[in-house]
Amino acid sequence: MIKRGKPHPAYLELWQSRELARRVELGLKKLADCALCPRNCHVNRSEDKKRVCRTGRYAAVSSHFAHFGEERCLRGNHGSGTIFFSWCNLRCVFCQNYAISWAGEGRSTKPEELAEMMLELQEEGCHNINLVTPEHVVPQILEALLLAVEHGLRLPLVYNTSAYDSLDSLRLMDGIVDIYMPDFKFWDPENARRYAKAPDYPETARSAIKEMHRQVGPLVIDAHGVALRGVLLRHLIMPGGVAGTQEIMNWIGCELGTGAYVNLMAQYQAALYHCFKRVRNGQGSPESLKGRGHIGDHNKVFLAAPRTPSSASASLWFVRVTFSVPAFTAVTRVQIPSGTPNLFSRL
Ligand code: SF4
Repeated sequence: MIKRGKPHPAYLELWQSRELARRVELGLKKLADCALCPRNCHVNRSEDKKRVCRTGRYAAVSSHFAHFGEERCLRGNHGSGTIFFSWCNLRCVFCQNYAISWAGEGRSTKPEELAEMMLELQEEGCHNINLVTPEHVVPQILEALLLAVEHGLRLPLVYNTSAYDSLDSLRLMDGIVDIYMPDFKFWDPENARRYAKAPDYPETARSAIKEMHRQVGPLVIDAHGVALRGVLLRHLIMPGGVAGTQEIMNWIGCELGTGAYVNLMAQYQAALYHCFKRVRNGQGSPESLKGRGHIGDHNKVFLAAPRTPSSASASLWFVRVTFSVPAFTAVTRVQIPSGTPNLFSRL
């Protein structure tokens, strides 16, 4: 859907009605007995106690910059204003941002500083504020957002998530986030247990994505092709069909409609986990991981549009991914019924 005009971020109304301030208060209270994500740790983060996500009272930030590698509708001509939060509540063993999500690269950031980062990105001309790995720092984001809005922030918020979110957290964000970008990772609970220690991931992700869609609806872009509002999905194809690509696409088509947008990604790589194991076994330092996050860039994804109606294969998309990682080269083919979402590979 295409819309004209300037972005009008959702949070402005909640700020004017003082609901944003109430959400900040509510979110910060929840830190005292943290069940903000499905890990349900029940630890007192207000006192800086930490558990699975290794994050206490304040969010840690690894970097913030105008990102020109995101989807075209997010990066536009001036970049997506990305803020990378350190640590993660899911931590897949194949994470491409291993140094940030597992090794915690970054530093503790007070709300005033986080607000300044948002304003700086706006000043640079970015099209949006892109919150990467926000699941475990929702109250801290709200706290900073309130300060940033008071000082003039007017960009749409992108909630860039693994989809391992609790409904409780997502409701705190209702009316505040403009664009949800969930990455639906696994269909099979056993694979989710094996690769992320989260057997409840598939069920959680389905509920979370339905809630995101309820809040913001399908993707809306402006006349220049820049996203203003809605859900934009991601999905990483994995060797051997481990991710359950076909099932996930079918589910998206049925639940969100065939107008849903999905970025099919192919940058799977596994080597960083082996680095992690070496660090854990005392055979290397976290610094040795730096600069090793791009080996999956050699993977190739081939996405064929549905054939003409006269073709016998009229009802299928064809996706072929060639994985070229140090340990092996593998080709995965997936056939997806075309009555499923709008698919595109990394643009
Ligand atoms: S946000 Fe962190 S501390 Fe809270 S439940 Fe999730 S992993 Fe545990």
